[in-house]
Amino acid sequence: MTLHIPFDNSYATLPDAFYTRLNPTPVRSAEPLAWNAALAEDLGITGQDTAVFAGNTVPDGAAPLAQLYAGHQFGNYNPQLGDGRAILLGEVVGRDGLRRDIQLKGSGPTPYSRMGDGRAWLGPVLREYVASEAMHALGVPTTRALAAVATGEPVLREQGPLPGAVLTRVAASHLRVGTFQIFAHRGHIDELRTLTDYAIARHHPEADGPLGLLAAVCRVQAELVAAWMSVGFIHGVMNTDNCTISGETIDYGPCAFLDDYHEGRVFSSIDQTGRYAFGNQPRIAVWNMAQLATALIQLCDDKEAAVEQATAIVHAMPGQLQAAWLRRFGAKIGLADPRAEDQPLIEELLALMQADGADFTNTFAGLHDGTARDGFKDTDAFDAWAAKWRVRMDAPDAMTTANPQIIPRNHQIEAMITAAVAGDMAPFERLMTALATPYDLPDGFDDLRAPPQPDEVVPATFCGT
Ligand code: AMP
Ligand code: MG
Repeated sequence: MTLHIPFDNSYATLPDAFYTRLNPTPVRSAEPLAWNAALAEDLGITGQDTAVFAGNTVPDGAAPLAQLYAGHQFGNYNPQLGDGRAILLGEVVGRDGLRRDIQLKGSGPTPYSRMGDGRAWLGPVLREYVASEAMHALGVPTTRALAAVATGEPVLREQGPLPGAVLTRVAASHLRVGTFQIFAHRGHIDELRTLTDYAIARHHPEADGPLGLLAAVCRVQAELVAAWMSVGFIHGVMNTDNCTISGETIDYGPCAFLDDYHEGRVFSSIDQTGRYAFGNQPRIAVWNMAQLATALIQLCDDKEAAVEQATAIVHAMPGQLQAAWLRRFGAKIGLADPRAEDQPLIEELLALMQADGADFTNTFAGLHDGTARDGFKDTDAFDAWAAKWRVRMDAPDAMTTANPQIIPRNHQIEAMITAAVAGDMAPFERLMTALATPYDLPDGFDDLRAPPQPDEVVPATFCGT
């Protein structure tokens, strides 16, 4: 059946200052790797055409473009980034009435490629595919994966030549904090205003003006980061260009899920100082919102009053994060109505897990099936905690929907990539099946619950994506 994508593009109607129009660069021999039929159906897409998802054919109704943005990378402002290896094909309005971007990632160079080749290799493409779809099934706001296609072309990375691939990403939008920063830093106030109006209409229609938008983004980002913490997710590159206005997780680069719990855990090989360590993520989310505030203040006439209001909005965020964290972790230990007084009980469990290297996912999942104790060395300390916990725990059912039985573990993802490079997609398919229902694991997948053996541990994930 011929492919039909019901494009309904809005970003492409904004002025030229926001993007560069260009087509994806064709690839040598496109071969399908993965196709998300359920998502396609939700988006009203019918048929299939690998040539489109490789970038070899531009589909009817598309308005291909590379978006402009800037951003703070590891705390330092980079005045121009932009889609260096991605092309927005256009937007569709799904069956749920929500507008979504359809973007090719790894689709060739753009004016924003700087030193990059505009390409992606198969490993990070499949990692993003699995991780983003797993996050969706876990109930965490995220971009989605529609397709992955092998290009038949080698991509040169530190490890040597690797097989190239293109990911088709679906997002509520690709508006980032960095999209606002570029116009604010350049003093392009008209563009900043246009962008703000566009973002409010598209994502936060209830927001009143620039500071209303700031407050709305703070709220969705606070919820997002609390959701990450609750499933042990480490984003790895929380730069302001990887921080969305919609509140979706975006850019699965050197991301990872915790095995054994440690709040200081870092996997990204480029994060030398641990800026984006697991436990730092709430603080960084607030820092990122301060950058958005700095940009949006420029639209306010009374700067002094705006600074005061924006400061109050950003300062409210730690409280929002804390409340969302307590609600989620309270549910994880079976509390119907977690209160501030319950926080020490949760923190005590996390401290015991950290001291004993207990597995994050399996400890919480083990609270309801009684196996949590097995993961501790100091069982006396765990028993003392569990005695207090049993007295307080009043909603055991809350635990089954708050504690996944599986998450995409780093070693399983690495093994899946190794197999895919060798032409075997069976481990990918198996992971996708198991991760589709993480709170209700089907029979036959129990092996995927196991933490890595010592020789399977993945110490670092690489940015050489
Ligand atoms: P990321 O760390 O993936 O969020 O990327 C940061 C910036 O680098 C973005 O502007 C990307 O488009 C750009 N970039 C990353 N990898 C490449 C590549 N292989 N070729 C061109 N640009 C890239
Ligand atoms: Mg990025």
